Amino acid sequence: MPELPEVETICRGLAGSLVGQRLVRVAVHCRTLRQPIPANFEQQLTGRVIERIGRRAKYMLIFLDDKTVVIGHLGMSGRMYVRSPVQAEPLQRHDHVVLTTADELTVVYHDPRRFGLLVLGRADALDKHELLKTLGPEPLEDDFTAARLDERLGRKPRSPLKAAQLDQTVVAGLGNIYVSEALHRAALSPERLAGTLNGRETGRLVKAIRSVLSDALVAGGSTLRDYVQADGEVGSFQNLFRVYDRDGRRCPRSGCRGVVTRLVQAGRSTYFCSQCQK
Ligand SMILES: [Zn+2]
Repeated sequence: MPELPEVETICRGLAGSLVGQRLVRVAVHCRTLRQPIPANFEQQLTGRVIERIGRRAKYMLIFLDDKTVVIGHLGMSGRMYVRSPVQAEPLQRHDHVVLTTADELTVVYHDPRRFGLLVLGRADALDKHELLKTLGPEPLEDDFTAARLDERLGRKPRSPLKAAQLDQTVVAGLGNIYVSEALHRAALSPERLAGTLNGRETGRLVKAIRSVLSDALVAGGSTLRDYVQADGEVGSFQNLFRVYDRDGRRCPRSGCRGVVTRLVQAGRSTYFCSQCQK
């Protein structure tokens, strides 16, 4: 599932091609995603200009010139990408939504498993939108501080650190990969209870989350299974994983003699080194 760096990379790619473009045709071929595509979707989008493309947690936000916002989520297997007129090709299976701009660019939303969604919101009420209102702080924003994370973790004191960070109300945009990587960088065990961190450890975790996400953004995200960028390129951060999917290998921390271990927590794999992550 795409996490913050992958979604951010896709949004930046889409913005590069689409900001300023007017949507002239909107075709919905399948409405039954995780939430149904609203009945007025085509009518709301047709004729509108894309002003800006942003992101909140793992949601893509496409701002239109009448203050409508398309809120998109890629779910497990969704892709959203732009094709130029020369790349025109017939519709493929699972191309659920196709937007065409005045310059004949096509934007395709493709999602075989249909766990994603495309719904509508208003720019002046986004914080109150059902999908966005409970989200925690954005980890790359300046206001993501140790005090802020401490307050959020304090709401889940008995929850293991791994699960607490997957909870989107604690911190927005993290998933299995970047939680494992951040905990290794912070030298904290995924099994530590969220309420047991001292201020120094929370500060270390904030720094680790920010650094792993920044590094992943530079690499264009991680490509495992279905992720591709808006222009079809693939990300390369998977080559820089320190622990994720590396069980049985030596811990990469200098001076540590541990081995990366896989642990299943709440049905999901966590990768960590028990020697240096406490
Ligand atoms: Zn280690």
